[in-house]
Amino acid sequence: MLSLALTDKIALADTHQGTEAKPRVSGSGGTPRVSRDSRETVGRATVDNPRLVCRNVNVYYGDKQAIRDVSIDIAHNEVLAMIGPSGCGKSTFIRCLNRMNDTIENCRVTGEIVLDGVNIYDKGVDVVPLRAQVGMVFQKPNPFPKSIFENVAYGPRIHGLCGTKSELEAAVEGSLRKAGLWEEVKDRLADDALTLSGGQQQRVAVARAIVTEPEVLFADEPTGNLDTTRSLEIMELLTSLNRDKGITIIIITHEPEMAAFAKHVIHFRDGLVEIDKQNGRNT
Ligand code: ADP
Repeated sequence: MLSLALTDKIALADTHQGTEAKPRVSGSGGTPRVSRDSRETVGRATVDNPRLVCRNVNVYYGDKQAIRDVSIDIAHNEVLAMIGPSGCGKSTFIRCLNRMNDTIENCRVTGEIVLDGVNIYDKGVDVVPLRAQVGMVFQKPNPFPKSIFENVAYGPRIHGLCGTKSELEAAVEGSLRKAGLWEEVKDRLADDALTLSGGQQQRVAVARAIVTEPEVLFADEPTGNLDTTRSLEIMELLTSLNRDKGITIIIITHEPEMAAFAKHVIHFRDGLVEIDKQNGRNT
């Protein structure tokens, strides 16, 4: 079974106080719990039972500071929208959450980011299972020039999650079903993914991101290249993954209509959190 195979791959660590989910990031253990005292940040940027706790996060590209002292909580089962003008640091910030910034040579991150009780910047944390746990979808779906099947099978293959061909087939089918694409592609799984429409390619990207059963899914402007109808379909898909599968969803957008899908909305400006709203109210 996919989840067992994944769990086998990943060392478990202490759970965060009050959270139910088991941490899957392998770390050095003894992860810091964020004390109540250090939670007073942007207004009351705290939630009960947080999945992600970010404290005093700063990001620098060389000498240039792109993120300034950002402290936010992201709850379990939450859809969070991050909104703000181009260049204000939204992508930089979400790339911190699965350590994608590690791949940028001159990028330096300080502060604390605790996912399900594990500080993901602890020295012992292995980024490979972290990135399976924290999936990403981008503005451009960028499917590999491979078949639809192989695009979705990529994650389980590189993470060694499926022991047999039938397990892999079941994982691909399950993921395409969750992405609402199975009926459209089940008879053409061997076709090149690049032959699909833009909306379908974005659904393949979602299927590819969720096949590793992530607990958190980031979507960086996932509707930026789509017309209104396809955009609404993708937003409905992302919110249904939250509602039905319990995946925490974090969406970057500069479109207020898309942000309206989220109960938690954070406005960034010049690398700072300007507003942190829950259920439409300032917190
Ligand atoms: P947003 O996602 O809100 O458009 P970004 O996170 O992409 O903003 O960018 C925030 C700031 O960091 C911008 O000033 C941008 O030019 C800078 N920046 C982003 N990526 C890099 C990089 N790889 N090297 C240097 N500066 C970068």
